[in-house]
Amino acid sequence: MTTREPQTEMKRVPDEDVLVEIENLKKYFVSESGYIDRFKFELDGGLPIEYDINYVKAVDDVSLKIKKGETLGLVGESGCGKSTLARTVLRLLEPTEGSVYFDGEDLADLSGENLRRRRKDIQMIFQDPQSSLDPRWKVGKIVEEPMEAHGMLDDEGRERRAKELLDQVGLDPQHYNRYPHEFSGGQRQRINIARALSTNPDFIVCDEPVSALDVSIQAQVLNTLKELQEELDLTFLFIAHDLSVIRYISDRIAVMYLGEIVEFGDEKEIFNNPQHPYTQSLLDSVPVPDPDQEGRKKILEGDVPSPINPPSGCRFRTRCPDVIPPEEFAFDDEEWAAIRRFTRAVTRREFDRSELAEMKERYFGGLSFRGDTDDVLEESLGYIEDEEWEQAEQLLTETFLEKSICAKEKPEYDVTPEFGSSRHYAACHLHRD
Ligand code: ADP
Repeated sequence: MTTREPQTEMKRVPDEDVLVEIENLKKYFVSESGYIDRFKFELDGGLPIEYDINYVKAVDDVSLKIKKGETLGLVGESGCGKSTLARTVLRLLEPTEGSVYFDGEDLADLSGENLRRRRKDIQMIFQDPQSSLDPRWKVGKIVEEPMEAHGMLDDEGRERRAKELLDQVGLDPQHYNRYPHEFSGGQRQRINIARALSTNPDFIVCDEPVSALDVSIQAQVLNTLKELQEELDLTFLFIAHDLSVIRYISDRIAVMYLGEIVEFGDEKEIFNNPQHPYTQSLLDSVPVPDPDQEGRKKILEGDVPSPINPPSGCRFRTRCPDVIPPEEFAFDDEEWAAIRRFTRAVTRREFDRSELAEMKERYFGGLSFRGDTDDVLEESLGYIEDEEWEQAEQLLTETFLEKSICAKEKPEYDVTPEFGSSRHYAACHLHRD
């Protein structure tokens, strides 16, 4: 006979291989631009009667596991939430929802002294080596400061360790008494690395650490980081928008778009077998030296939508070259492409109402749609004729684009990796059964 253990609150059993586990993490900011819209006032100017707070959904339900000793690269266009994710993981920002486990311990459960002690194990290196170094402090003091804050060693011990660290990151220990302005950009970033290492951390978040450096210097600093990782058994979360940097440094890669992770997998898998149209577009935007290698280019169209009101379903769908046609219309590829091109032209008000007949021919010439589709297209042309562009846009969008599975359901799929056996996740409905 077996007896059931009573359910008690337990510290989560850590996965041996995992150092940091990010679980359903969200970080929303109250939108400043939306602030004015927060209240709807009564007509006589009385008290607010309705609240309507807008949130910037900078990080929206992100889950990731970072393995011990690996570099997890985080890549995506500017504004997609990479820095906010990093700062929330570090608890420099309070999460709106979700958890971050460090070696099995929920950082959200820690406060005061316990959190401070944990911070010793978690360090960061930011983009701008100039502004993160106090110009009035000598290098020795800069490197020793975190040790002092955590009560590590005595004065003499800290000086010895600071000099060793300077040596370890490729600087001359004799420069202990110099000021930051006496160093080059690359050297200043090395001072930052020494400072981050001073508390002997396990995990370092590197937020665009080489972006401000000359390309020739970037590789040298990246090599130093790689060597230090090997020597000191470090785990990195490495943020960059530059794909060649990400490729060089990462073991696994997470691709972020509008607050969400849209694809992740091994470095080789992401670069050689990308399965999300956003990743493919990012890769295609890197110049290819060999013209024979140019396949179908996926150009990133338009701007990143606002994270205040992100698109439903797949957030990339408003820019995606591969949006899936709605099943009920049974469009072929040519018809679907024509409808999407026309809707885009209407949304952008790309033509004048006097050109309507011409446009009809340009977008739909040679195509014959089913009656119900034809009716909608005619109705939209009627709206444009009357200069009612918004109604035309709304009709086309609601009838066609928003009926796509891409607008209706959030995609979450695992795909079979071609390189290695690590999990390959791609948030794209093209991978549905
Ligand atoms: P990335 O690092 O990928 O460039 P960020 O994390 O800096 O992206 O920004 C993600 C989104 O969150 C952007 O739309 C940005 O404007 C917004 N954001 C970042 N910080 C704040 C803040 N403190 N208040 C309001 N919005 C913010």
